[in-house]
Amino acid sequence: RDKVVVVTGASRGIGFATSRVFGEEGARVVMAARNAETLERSAEAIRGETGCTVHTMACDLTKEDQCARLVAFAERTHGRIDILVNNASGKLPIGEFATMTSEAWLTAWTNKLQIYVTLARQVFPIMQRQNGGRIINVIGAHAARNPAPSYLPIGVISAGLINFVKGLADLGAKHQILVTGVSPAGVDTGERWQSWLARRAASEGKTIEEVSAEKSEYSLGRPAKPEEIADVICFLGSS
Ligand code: NAD
Repeated sequence: RDKVVVVTGASRGIGFATSRVFGEEGARVVMAARNAETLERSAEAIRGETGCTVHTMACDLTKEDQCARLVAFAERTHGRIDILVNNASGKLPIGEFATMTSEAWLTAWTNKLQIYVTLARQVFPIMQRQNGGRIINVIGAHAARNPAPSYLPIGVISAGLINFVKGLADLGAKHQILVTGVSPAGVDTGERWQSWLARRAASEGKTIEEVSAEKSEYSLGRPAKPEEIADVICFLGSS
């Protein structure tokens, strides 16, 4: 209750579900995503359902100055930042290693890993001054631990972020900054999930049905729901 939470990639999927569950707990939520209209619509839904205080900022977090603008906005509005949920990710490339360009690899890097690192670096001194905070990173354990030839960059980025979380957690511990990673396998987030299945199918020469039927990745025999991931994130943000 009353904690200030910045959620990136908040307009839909896991970020939206996370913003809503923090709203239900009475937190003050700052939602960030690329598209202003979709973001405001999502924020309005959460305000209506939960009655909590929600602010929005449309931004492209691959740009360092826009990360800084978001962090400054949250701190100026609420005087502190208790929790950062690093969740925003642009599209990550899928395809053959031999034909994947350096540009595609660098875009993958910028579209996820660099956003997480930049925002963590920017909120860290604020949390140090407060003597506490939470940095929760949504990663992807399956890709991190099971390298798949058709989406190597996703595996590399996920494994890198898991390493980053552990290192930053050690650094944050003495300042009461708890740094954690939440690593789902597949989560049915609608558009991203469907596009992921379609792109994987195309790259592996299978049908979408064949790819969806590969349930070995999911212990429950189905992809997770965004709300299930959001509950874990909210727990990690709680006292
Ligand atoms: P999604 O595609 O449904 O939503 C992505 C959100 O990120 C959107 O709000 C979008 O506006 C925002 N975003 C993207 N690029 C941005 C940028 N440059 N600046 C600001 N905002 C930006 O995603 P999702 O499926 O909910 O996934 C959320 C996170 O969880 C991602 O980091 C993803 O890699 C990770 N993840 C997802 C799954 C899955 O199966 N869906 C599995 C494991 C990990």
